[in-house]
Amino acid sequence: MEKLEHIGIAVKNLEKSNKLFAKLLGKEHYKIEDVPLEGVRTSFFDVGGLKIELLEATRADSPIANFIEKRGEGLHHLAFAVEKIEDKMEALAADGFHLLADKPKSGADNKMIVFLHPKATNHVLVELCEEKKA
Ligand code: ZN
Repeated sequence: MEKLEHIGIAVKNLEKSNKLFAKLLGKEHYKIEDVPLEGVRTSFFDVGGLKIELLEATRADSPIANFIEKRGEGLHHLAFAVEKIEDKMEALAADGFHLLADKPKSGADNKMIVFLHPKATNHVLVELCEEKKA
């Protein structure tokens, strides 16, 4: 893994949480982005190069809606930046990690992303992300 790229936090109400985190961090979010494929609306804060990603469900069957129903709001995932995401997926699978998809998907913030199953990572949902090349 290259670095911890962002920390994802599941929230019920993005507008309220944007205000809360702006107060906490002393800065405004720098963007809001919808990811229709995942049924989420996201906002991003930059804290010294590490991003905080707030995630709100935009439909009832969104993974974020399921998460909040089961576990409530809060810490959702850690996202690590990687190079050559498909090679990394293969290597992790060979090491016994279970990936939640066969191929990386298009995520927020100009990234290709994939998640690892939390069962194999001490119940921490881990995302791999790679900047999309132009
Ligand atoms: Zn993320």
